[in-house]
Amino acid sequence: MVELSHSGLNIAQQEAVNYLHGPCLVLAGAGSGKTRVITHKIGRLIQTGVPAKRIAAITFTNKAAQEMRERAKTLIGKPAKDLTICTFHALGVHILRQDGEVLGLKQNFSILDSDDVFGIIRDAGAGADTATARAWQWKISSWKNIGLNSETALAQAQTDEDKSVALLMARYEERLSAYQSVDFDDLIGLPLQLLAKSEEVRTKWQKHLAHVLIDEVQDTNATQYAVLKHLVGQNGRFTAVGDDDQSIYGWRGATLDNLKQLPIDYPHLKVIKLEQNYRSTSAILTAANNVIGPNPRLFVKNLWSALGEGEPVRVVEADTEEHEAERAVARIQSIRAGSLPLAGRAATEFKDFAILYRANHQAKPFEKALRKAQIPYKVSGGQSFFDRAEIKDLCAWLRLWVNPNDDPAFMRSVTTPKRGIGHQTLAQLGHFATQYKTSLYEALFASSLGSVVNQKGLESLHEFGRLVNDLSYQASKISGQEAALAFLLQWLKDIDYEQHLMDGEDSEKAAASRWANVLDFIDWMAKRCGGEIEDTTAVNLVSERRTVLEVAQTIALITTLSEKEKDQNLVTLSTLHASKGLEWPHVILAGVNEDSLPFKPNDSDDLSKEVIGQRIEEERRLMYVGITRAQLSLAVSYSKKRKKGREMINALPSRFIAEMGLNQATAKEDPREKLRALRAEFAQKALRQGDMS
Ligand code: ATP
Ligand code: MG
Repeated sequence: MVELSHSGLNIAQQEAVNYLHGPCLVLAGAGSGKTRVITHKIGRLIQTGVPAKRIAAITFTNKAAQEMRERAKTLIGKPAKDLTICTFHALGVHILRQDGEVLGLKQNFSILDSDDVFGIIRDAGAGADTATARAWQWKISSWKNIGLNSETALAQAQTDEDKSVALLMARYEERLSAYQSVDFDDLIGLPLQLLAKSEEVRTKWQKHLAHVLIDEVQDTNATQYAVLKHLVGQNGRFTAVGDDDQSIYGWRGATLDNLKQLPIDYPHLKVIKLEQNYRSTSAILTAANNVIGPNPRLFVKNLWSALGEGEPVRVVEADTEEHEAERAVARIQSIRAGSLPLAGRAATEFKDFAILYRANHQAKPFEKALRKAQIPYKVSGGQSFFDRAEIKDLCAWLRLWVNPNDDPAFMRSVTTPKRGIGHQTLAQLGHFATQYKTSLYEALFASSLGSVVNQKGLESLHEFGRLVNDLSYQASKISGQEAALAFLLQWLKDIDYEQHLMDGEDSEKAAASRWANVLDFIDWMAKRCGGEIEDTTAVNLVSERRTVLEVAQTIALITTLSEKEKDQNLVTLSTLHASKGLEWPHVILAGVNEDSLPFKPNDSDDLSKEVIGQRIEEERRLMYVGITRAQLSLAVSYSKKRKKGREMINALPSRFIAEMGLNQATAKEDPREKLRALRAEFAQKALRQGDMS
C-alpha cells in the first residue's frame, strides 16, 4: 500500500481529496491549490485501492499533463505510469483508436493539424484567398465546437454567407472521411458521437473509468462537457476544479454554462471552495482582487494570502516598445543583483522570471533586448520551428521514408506539392484501404486496386509509390554531411518544392522566408548526418556519420517528443493564454496598453455594445490570470508610443492598470533600479575578467 501524507493540504483541500463517493467541484481563485488537489486526490484514490489504470486526469495543455505526471510520480511512485493523464484531445485520440471503428474510422486514422485543414478548405472552396479561407476554417471550427455538422449548420443558417459555408463544410466532411482523417475538433466531437450512439462503448468506458479528474474546467466547451458526462455516467464519479474568473477561452467556444450546469446535472454535487492563496504576496493578490472586482461573477471569492504584504506592485512607463523591453531587462538584472528581499528563497535565477504579453508578436522587442544583454530565454506559446507548415511538409516526407505505412505522412506528401493525383483518386484509395484494413501505401500496390481506381490515377499512384521507395532506399545508403546535403537538395528540386511555396503564398517575401527555413532545416539534417550536431534524442551521445534515414528516424521523435525544458535556466517569454496554471517568482506584464490589453480587434467597430462588453470582461479575466502568475514581485509595463505599420502612434495605458488600485506613491518604479542594474553589470564584467586572468 502506498503511504500518503496529507500534510501540505489545508482542511478544505483535504475535504476535496477525501470526498470519494460522488461528484465534486472545487471552485476557487488563482493559486489556491486546485491543481494540487487533483494530484493529491489521484494519490488518495490509489491509496483506497483504485487501480491507477482506472483513473484519468484531464489537463488543459500537454505541458500541464507532463507536469502533473511528474508530480504524480513523486507522490505515488511506480503506479503512476499506468495513470491516464492527458488533454481532452489526447483522450479523444485514445478513445477513437480503440473504438472509432464503430463510426467507420480506420484504426490508424490521420490527425490533421490546422495547416492541413486550411489546405483542404481552401481547395474545397476553389480560388479563395487566404483571409477568406481562414475565416471559413474558423467558422466551421466554431460550428463543430457547438456540436453542429454541415447538415444542421445549413438548416440553421440565416445568411447567404452562412449557407455557402455550410455547403463548403459538407465538402470538407466528405474529404476528411475519404482520407480517413480527423481534425482537432473531431477529437472531441467524434468521441461524443461515439459515446452517445453506442451503448456498448459507453458502458465499457464508464466501467473502465473509476474516477475522472479535470483541471481548468471553466475553459471546457459544450462538446467537452458532454463527453465528460458520458464518461462519468449518472453517478458522476468525477472531481472538477476550476475558477470562473480565469475563463479566457470564450473566443474558442469555452463556456461558463458548463459550470452553471454542473449542479443542475448533478444535484448531489459537492461544492468546495478554497480561499487561501499560497502563491502570491498580499500586494499582488490585492491588485488581482481589485482588477476582477468590476466583472460580473458566478461565484464571488475572497482570496487571502499568509505570505505577507511583500514588494509593492510596480508600474513601469516607457517611451516606446523598445524602451519598455530595455526596462524589463534592467529590472531582471537589478533583481538578480539582489535589489529585492528574497523572502527566504535561494538566489534569483533566470528561470524565476517571466515576461507575459497579450499577443505573440509582442515578444519581438523583448527577445532583442534579452539577446543584447546575453540573457538566455525561451518563447513559449509561440510557433515552434517544427510547427511551421514547410517544416511539417518535409518531415512528412521523411516520416514516409522511414515508415511508408504512416498514413498522415502519406496524405501530406502525396498532396504536397500537388502531383496531379486528384482527390477522387485519393478518396477511392482511402475507401479501398479501409475496406481491406491496410495502410494507404499498402493499398497502392494491391493488384485489385485497379478495379476501383481508373488507369490514369493508378499510374500516378504507382509512380508516387516508386518515388517513395527509391528515396527511402537512397536515404538508407547516403551518409556524411556533403553527400546528404546534395541528396536532400536534389530531392527538393525533383519535387519542385520551392515553386510549391511560391504558389501557396500571396507574397514573394513570405515564400522566400519559408524557403530560407527549408534550407536551414536541410542544412541541420546534413550536419547531423555528418555527426556534427549532437543528437539530443539518442540515449548515448552520437557523434559519428549516419545515413539520412537514421537521422530521419530521430526527427520523427523530435516532432513528437516535447523536449524537456523544465530544468533549463531561462527567462520565460509567454502569451497570457499560455501562462495559465503556471507561476514564477517574478513576473513582468508587458504591453499593458489600451487596444493591446484589452485587445481591440479590427472588426470591433461593427460589434454590438453587448458583445464588446463581454470581450472586455474576458480581457479583464486575462489580466487577472496574468497578475496571479506572480509569487514575489510584479511589474506592469506600458509604452507611450507604439508602432502601427510604419508610423509611431500615441498609446494609452490600459484601463486595467487604474483598476488595480495601486498606491501611487509606491507604484512608480524606483529610479535607482537602473543604477543597481549598471552596478550589477560592472560586477559581472569584473567577474568575467577575473575568470580570464
Ligand atoms: P491556478 O488557478 O493558477 O491554476 P491553482 O489553484 O491550481 O492555481 P496550484 O497551482 O495548485 O493552484 O497551487 C499554487 C501554489 O501553491 C503551488 O506552488 C502549490 O504548490 C502551492 N500550494 C497549494 N496548496 C498548498 C498548501 N496547502 N500548502 C502549501 N502550498 C500549497
Ligand atoms: Mg491550477
